Amino acid sequence: MKILSDFSLNELKTELAELPAFRAKQIFDAIMQAKDFSETNLPKAIIEKFQQNYILKPVEIYKTLTSKDGTKKYLLKLFDNNIVECVYLKQNYGNTICMSTQVGCKMGCKFCASTLNGCVRNLSSGEMLSTIAVVSADNGKRTERNFTNIVLMGSGEPFDNYDNVVKWLNLITDKNGFNVSERNISLSTCGLVDRIYDFAKLKFNITLCLSLHATTDEVRKTIMPIANRYTIKETIDALKYYVGENNRRVVFEYCLIKDVNNSQADIMRLKDLTKGLNCHVNVICLNPNGGPLKATTRTEAQAFVKALNDNGVSATLRRSQGSDIEGACGMLRAKTLNKLK
Ligand code: SAH
Repeated sequence: MKILSDFSLNELKTELAELPAFRAKQIFDAIMQAKDFSETNLPKAIIEKFQQNYILKPVEIYKTLTSKDGTKKYLLKLFDNNIVECVYLKQNYGNTICMSTQVGCKMGCKFCASTLNGCVRNLSSGEMLSTIAVVSADNGKRTERNFTNIVLMGSGEPFDNYDNVVKWLNLITDKNGFNVSERNISLSTCGLVDRIYDFAKLKFNITLCLSLHATTDEVRKTIMPIANRYTIKETIDALKYYVGENNRRVVFEYCLIKDVNNSQADIMRLKDLTKGLNCHVNVICLNPNGGPLKATTRTEAQAFVKALNDNGVSATLRRSQGSDIEGACGMLRAKTLNKLK
């Protein structure tokens, strides 16, 4: 079976060459509106034939949880019954969809729930496109784009699914489709350095975020296995290259973990690491995932951010949204999988 949302409009025209060209556009539009075959205007005979070879809507809403603050968390079921998460955040500067790039994750970060059961498989570009389509359609008129920003900060490591993510970027920014501005897309990576260089050369105007979470290689190795492959210095050099190629500010994500990465010395090292780089530090309060790592209080986190600011580092504390509905990475999926077991 082929997934129709994996195809660009031109690829659809080639794939469906025996049909008049307007059918390809009709199918392309149906994908963006998250329609299934029965909701399209395709003739019955075509639908019957297509259903044997093609999947039009590879993603369905399996469960929705709505937080008191309006944040919606989705469990999405893929065509092969795998489950991924997606979050819809209501924000006054435009609504944001936070989406997954893999079923699970193999990076093994100690604080993150997404990686607890390993990585099952990559999402295809079409599954990622349909994720956006399904969630957008659930939040307003189907014919409209009901979101402004997309962040690749759900489950999975985007650069471990590099080709599909790049293809998805081309699909989601296509002016025939959702036409999302590159500037409204953020991609978060734990720091696959070789891929950062490859990606920089593609010159997408998106915001690159690095999950830093430690200021020394020793500490980073204890919470992020990727630190055994690349040093912080190598990683930041790659970000400098990205900024040089794309002239975009990069963002560091720094999840505060009690007695691990929240010392005065960490503040000074963060100052040194970010010096001379066009960047911003997003400080996050850890959402404990049941493991041994403990969160700091919000007051301590605010003091950490203030100290960074006092030292000339651009930093803010990320607002916590949807924590009453298992808002953090992979938590809802992990819980659901445990229940299904
Ligand atoms: N693999 C990519 C994308 C996943 S998003 C990456 O590592 O960047 C990962 C981000 O989710 C982390 O940077 C962190 O900001 C957030 N995150 C993961 N687990 C969390 C937790 N337990 N509490 C708070 N934030 C968490």
